[in-house]
Amino acid sequence: MSYNEISYEVIGAVARVCHNRPQAANAESEALLDELDDALERAKKDDAVRVLIIGGKGKHFSSGHDLVDGIRTRGHFTSEQIYLWEQEHYLGNALRIWDFPKPTIAQVQGACIAGGFMVANMCDLMVASDDAYFSDPVVHSLGAAAVETLVHPWVLGMRKAKEFLYTGQRLSAAEAKEWGMVNHVVPREELEAFTLRLANRIAETPPVALHVLKRSLNRTADIQGFRNAILAHFDTHVFSHSTAEHRGIVARGMEQSMAAAKKSAGST
Ligand code: ZN
Repeated sequence: MSYNEISYEVIGAVARVCHNRPQAANAESEALLDELDDALERAKKDDAVRVLIIGGKGKHFSSGHDLVDGIRTRGHFTSEQIYLWEQEHYLGNALRIWDFPKPTIAQVQGACIAGGFMVANMCDLMVASDDAYFSDPVVHSLGAAAVETLVHPWVLGMRKAKEFLYTGQRLSAAEAKEWGMVNHVVPREELEAFTLRLANRIAETPPVALHVLKRSLNRTADIQGFRNAILAHFDTHVFSHSTAEHRGIVARGMEQSMAAAKKSAGST
C-alpha cells in the first residue's frame, strides 16, 4: 500500500507514522485509518523496528474523525451498519494500537481532539509540546456518548475524566501532565528530537523482554477490567448514535453545535 494520508519513516530502530493531512488539521478519514492500520502491520513485521511513534505533520496532531467524510460516505447507514463499521475501523484501529507488540509513543502538538485523543491515548507513552491541547467535546457537539473508545478514566483518573467529558473542556499539555496522562511536555521545537531520543532509549532494550513486558503491563490493565470496559462502552456509544438527540443534531447540520461546543470548551 502506498500512503497518501499518513507518512511512514524508519529512523534507525524507530518507525514514525504521522497523520499527514495538515490542510485538514489531520482529520482522520476512513482512508487515513486504513493506512494507519497498514503501517502498524508493516512496523510489526519489520524486525529492525523496535519502537513506534505516532504523530502528526503540521500544526496539529489531529482534530479527530473526519466528519465531512463520515456524513458523505456513511450518512445513510443503518444502526447495524454503523455498529459493524465503527467496530472494525474506530474500535478496531484503537485496539490494534493498544495491542501493538512493540512500545508505542504518541508525539502530540496542537489540537488532539476526540478521535485524535483516542488514537494518541492508545499509545503506551505520550510526549506533548507546550502548545498541545486535548478535548473530547462530542457529548456536547454531537450528542454522542464520548468517542468510541472510553480510554479517558484510564489515562486521567475517574474524577478528572468525568469533568473533562461532562464539560467538553480543553486540557492544556501542562494540565494533562499534572493528571498523569502525558509523560513529558517539551517546547514545540524540541518535540520530534525529544520523542526520538526517548524512543531510541527504549529501542536499546532486548526486544523479546520488552515484548513480554508490554504484554504483562497490558494484561495488568486487562485484569483491572480495561478491555471489558472498552468493549462495553463501545456498545453504549453506538446506541448513542441512534438516539433522537444525536440524529436531530446531524439532521440540523453539525456546524452550529460544534461551533457552540468549541466556544464553551475554550471558556472552561
Ligand atoms: Zn461513533
